[in-house]
Amino acid sequence: MFKIKDIKICNIGLPLRQTIHMSNITIERSNSILVKVKSSDGDFGWGEAAASLSMTGESSVGMIQAINYMKEILVGVEIQSYESISDLVQTSIYGNAAAKSSLEAALIDLFARVQKKSFSEIIGKIKRSDLPIIWRIAGSENEIEEAKKQRDEGFKAFKIKVGAKTIKEDLQRAERLRVALGNEVQLTADANAGYNRKSALLFCSLIDKAGLDYMEQPVNGYDIKTMKACNELMSTPLSADEGIHSLEDLSIHKNMNAAEGASLKLIKFGSIKNLLGAIDFMKDNNMHVNISGKAGDSSISAACIGHISKVVNKLDWFSNVSIQYLADDIILNPMSIRDGKLIINPGLGLGVEVDEEKIEKYAI
Ligand SMILES: [Mg+2]
Repeated sequence: MFKIKDIKICNIGLPLRQTIHMSNITIERSNSILVKVKSSDGDFGWGEAAASLSMTGESSVGMIQAINYMKEILVGVEIQSYESISDLVQTSIYGNAAAKSSLEAALIDLFARVQKKSFSEIIGKIKRSDLPIIWRIAGSENEIEEAKKQRDEGFKAFKIKVGAKTIKEDLQRAERLRVALGNEVQLTADANAGYNRKSALLFCSLIDKAGLDYMEQPVNGYDIKTMKACNELMSTPLSADEGIHSLEDLSIHKNMNAAEGASLKLIKFGSIKNLLGAIDFMKDNNMHVNISGKAGDSSISAACIGHISKVVNKLDWFSNVSIQYLADDIILNPMSIRDGKLIINPGLGLGVEVDEEKIEKYAI
């Protein structure tokens, strides 16, 4: 099919429109690793993974090291099938899920372009074309007015970032936002693992009156006992995110009644096959499914999330992308969000045409 000739790694930081305030982290610009895989026939594919010490434990420096290590193994290898891409990447190095996911996405993008198909046609069967996405409400002064504006423009799902303010203030925010946005939209809150056990139990014991559709990850991902206790305290469904890196994590949460749904990220699962398998498990076990990227992802990652979202067997808690919060992007054919839905560019592979001058501009 094609032989891998070279793998180029770029470390970039994109400017954000607004600073993001999460429970215990403030993000002023993104940090992602981009991977460009070239074939000996001159074709190429792109992948991206956010560097996130808080989410995957992988820094950009470490990801560059890991991809360089995998590059030594991969350059010169002949790719024969889609299945062989995952096997090759997954067995090339232990751990390093985010680094692996960027390389795998670039190889699948390249494979799809060679096959004259879209990324989604390669990874599965298309189940949906409508992709509603979630608007993030992250603590800006005019967040209620901004959220109402987005609702009027078609957004049907909103996620409030909580944990950076006091519990009382965050409960008030949730209640006010529900009143302002109405009951027709999906409104959720995400603490990004920011509370200790005591605060998590307090928050969850009071949150039902806000009428949220779900509450995400009040405590750190290791504390499954507190997740279970939170789940028992509220009728609002509980979602896990930072605690879910594999099908095994999902199984543990399900068996302990510690989550009724989860947000899945490709950078945590390390491979699309693993991610799709996890969603099949969730469907079989009546768990709710959200697929999300990382704050600050560019259109390469957004396209990847979009294509995965098209083929998964369940997606009742919608998808998140981050391009709407970027002050600049790195592709020549910008992706768009229309009526609160992600519009995937037509074309081969991921459908993105990367602007390499922009990558130079935002190189770290
Ligand atoms: Mg989350």
